[in-house]
Amino acid sequence: MKIYTVHCSCNRIELSLYGEPKARVICHCIDCRELLDGPFYPVTVWTDHTASITRGKMKKYFCTNCGEVLFNTNSVDWQAVPQWLIAKSYDNQLPLELTAVAHIFYEQRIIDVSDNLPKHLRGFSSPLFEG
Ligand SMILES: [Zn+2]
Ligand SMILES: [Zn+2]
Repeated sequence: MKIYTVHCSCNRIELSLYGEPKARVICHCIDCRELLDGPFYPVTVWTDHTASITRGKMKKYFCTNCGEVLFNTNSVDWQAVPQWLIAKSYDNQLPLELTAVAHIFYEQRIIDVSDNLPKHLRGFSSPLFEG
């Protein structure tokens, strides 16, 4: 099984990700934007059993030393790990198999994105944005 090992800026926390993510998306929802303080959230989503802290202590999913966000959880307790965190641990190159496959909650976006990925208005089963 593939294992991705990522860490925060100060290296105190290490997070291991096993196998394949549940989802690879760029989320535009208001919760994600507020949480990450950005215009959208490029994220890989892992379930309980596929992501684990392998070194260090966590408090609210931030590193208590450097303050970096390692992950956040969603309503069903899956771990949402920012793409940039993974990329940083791989020479600033997100492994190709972890790149986003769709945008979600595009109807809540604050900026338009021009790429070729499908843009769902809400979740995965929602209609696509017709640009
Ligand atoms: Zn979101
Ligand atoms: Zn840290």
